[in-house]
Amino acid sequence: CGIVGYIGDKQAYPILINGLKRLEYRGYDSAGVALRTNRTQVFKCKGKVQDLENHAKGNDVSGTIGIGHTRWATHGEPNDENAHPHSSMNNKFVIIHNGIIENYSTLKDKLIKRGYAFQSDTDTEVLANLIEYIYLKGEVSAELAVRLALTKVVGAYGLVVICDDEPDKLIAARKGSPLVVGVGNGEYFLASDATPIIEYTNSVIYLNDNDVAIISRDELVLKTIQNDKLTPHVQQLDLDI
Ligand code: GLU
Repeated sequence: CGIVGYIGDKQAYPILINGLKRLEYRGYDSAGVALRTNRTQVFKCKGKVQDLENHAKGNDVSGTIGIGHTRWATHGEPNDENAHPHSSMNNKFVIIHNGIIENYSTLKDKLIKRGYAFQSDTDTEVLANLIEYIYLKGEVSAELAVRLALTKVVGAYGLVVICDDEPDKLIAARKGSPLVVGVGNGEYFLASDATPIIEYTNSVIYLNDNDVAIISRDELVLKTIQNDKLTPHVQQLDLDI
């Protein structure tokens, strides 16, 4: 339902929490964040963003890269396990996802045959494990694993992925579910609509269907799922208020 992401030199957690609150108007049943320090930490639970804050309280929430999600359940009841972010089985990837993977049960059966086990009932966890399977089996980069996985997927998605082996990077992709990138100075913001971004920057890039954005602190590379290079079109948000 709601997506936020941050990569830069500020602490990510308050930006993510703030962003998730800005997206609350859309409705949701659970919330979660993944934060990148020297490892990837996930905090998630059923309930409100406030419940997530209480849940994370007392933990190390430092880290200047992170992703956050508010879930509106489509596959699997609203509970702590089904909340996003979802980790792949060998913890190589974390993912947040808006939308529906329509062929998730076929993909899930194949992954189970290849030794994968699942902790949630979501279609999203299937995507996490599919990306990881391709990454490990194919010995390819995280970006290529994501793009190849997306060629196997039928459905709609706005998603953001962090790979444990390439931690200074957010990989985002869109098909049928909106994603906006906010362009800052040595930092980027990501969200499912511009509301969490406008307080930080007016410069935005709207992703199109089939776009993949590979975002590091100082660079955004935009391409299609099929690896055709694209020129990012930076727009100025017109804050006509
Ligand atoms: N289909 C996913 C799920 O049920 C994502 C739902 C959403 O868009 O929030 O977990």
